Amino acid sequence: MNRDTICIHGGYTPGNGEPRNIPIVQSTTFRYATGEAMGALFDLEASGYFYTRLQNPTNDHVAAKITQLEGGTAGMLTSSGQAANFYAVFNLASCGDHVVASSAIYGGTFNLFAVTMKRMGIEFTFVSPDCSEEELEAAFRPNTKAVFGESVANPALSVLDIERFAKAAHAHGVPLIIDNTFPTPINCRPFEFGADIVTHSTTKYMDGHANAVGGAIVDSGKFDWTKYPDKYPGLCTPDESYHGVTYTERFGLAGAFITKATAQLMRDFGSIPSPQNAYYLNIGLETLSLRMARHCANALAVAKYLKNHPKVAWVRHPSLEGDPDYALAQKYMPKGSCGVVSFGVKGGREAASKFMAGLELASIATHVADAKTCVLHPASTTHRQMSDAELAQAGVSPDLVRFSVGIEDIQDILADVEKALAAV
Ligand code: PLP
Repeated sequence: MNRDTICIHGGYTPGNGEPRNIPIVQSTTFRYATGEAMGALFDLEASGYFYTRLQNPTNDHVAAKITQLEGGTAGMLTSSGQAANFYAVFNLASCGDHVVASSAIYGGTFNLFAVTMKRMGIEFTFVSPDCSEEELEAAFRPNTKAVFGESVANPALSVLDIERFAKAAHAHGVPLIIDNTFPTPINCRPFEFGADIVTHSTTKYMDGHANAVGGAIVDSGKFDWTKYPDKYPGLCTPDESYHGVTYTERFGLAGAFITKATAQLMRDFGSIPSPQNAYYLNIGLETLSLRMARHCANALAVAKYLKNHPKVAWVRHPSLEGDPDYALAQKYMPKGSCGVVSFGVKGGREAASKFMAGLELASIATHVADAKTCVLHPASTTHRQMSDAELAQAGVSPDLVRFSVGIEDIQDILADVEKALAAV
């Protein structure tokens, strides 16, 4: 199936007389006639459902759709994008291990890595996505277990050279994990360029309507853990906490990573989405390809308009000709990158605040990537306590406006921007 068709039909094929829509199985538990039948499930010897924290049919259908969209072999949903990134990394690295990460990543992910996972004994080395070969090489250590980056970074909007980072990761015998939230698999499929594991904050374009917080992890099934049994004992040796199962032996490369993440991490941390939220996510997925095309076309039109506006100091959008990452965007996501544009209003922090106040259609919201155009001025909201010098250190210029372009009529969006800029 084509990706447009997978959006509609992927992950669920109803049998005769069964519901046409993915049913919401709003049940924590599943009944069995004998203890032996249920015991086989606990031993991972039979497949079936017994408790929704581990698996639920609604969630599994939706995870299967996302897995098909990415071209992977196995996938799982999580209750948030944060949980997806935490699980993806923690499934490979534990206390005493090390991970290389791009420095151009979502602030919440940076905090998760640099503060919270550091407290768990995992060290991260952050490298700029356009670092030199020497810098990238120097970031690896003997205890490095993975490389992590965002295909399109939030909010920097830089594009990661996925092939380059995959090559470096594989040369050191570790997988590349890509957070593919912004372009979605409609625009970019990281597995085709050598990435091994993909994560998502489905809260963004996949849900698309700001209905439900959620996340997903997909495995390509390509990384051969068994070549490095000493590095990945959790995948290659018996898991005593799960009846002595060796994930790579029992589930092969196609299923080992996701089965371990489910059986160990979901069992112990429990960041499962509700089946109701998975159902909302699926409704969003059905129109993902239509919406992405519109988000991207609208964002490019806004970026072009801003580029020529005398009150605008600078504009960043990966699909805008002249953008520093235009060539990378054309290589990895030729159909479009995402619906987010960042730009600076001449006059700095004060001018940006005035611009925001002049908007009517676009709402001021701490969000990106849903149907409604929304805008955030970090210097007067999320980063308002910082001085201009501190903002610069955090990579946020005082004039930076993050504009998440929705799927309204482009003339209405441009008219709103024009009016707000006129008031500056
Ligand atoms: N990854 C990216 C690229 C994001 O933009 C976000 C949130 O904005 C996250 C992960 C975290 O996702 P969530 O808010 O669903 O936990």
